[in-house]
Amino acid sequence: MGRQANHTPHEKRRGWLRHGNSPGDFSLAPRCEARTRRGTPCQCPAMRNGRCRLHGGLSTGPRTAEGIERIRRASMTHGRRSQAAKAEQRSLRDLMKDCRLLLNQLAEAPDGDQA
Ligand SMILES: [Zn+2]
Repeated sequence: MGRQANHTPHEKRRGWLRHGNSPGDFSLAPRCEARTRRGTPCQCPAMRNGRCRLHGGLSTGPRTAEGIERIRRASMTHGRRSQAAKAEQRSLRDLMKDCRLLLNQLAEAPDGDQA
């Protein structure tokens, strides 16, 4: 059982490779093209999700609601522009506007009204 030089194509092999990669010429496979630390695109063959095994190709993504929440928290920078923060800022702005209006009304009102 040695490796034989076989120059004829493998006509019997028609199945898919592992991880859903298509059979055929390896060099024609779509490339990952993730940005590497050198700044150049990754040249590894891409998996079904478009990335190679080193750049997220093996990742199945979050499977549970807890996993989604963990990723959401990890990718949030500071949250000052989140929906909750914007709603809080809006309510505080409205409260300040109401206070300002009330103070102006009190300042304009004659002293006799308070009695
Ligand atoms: Zn890659």
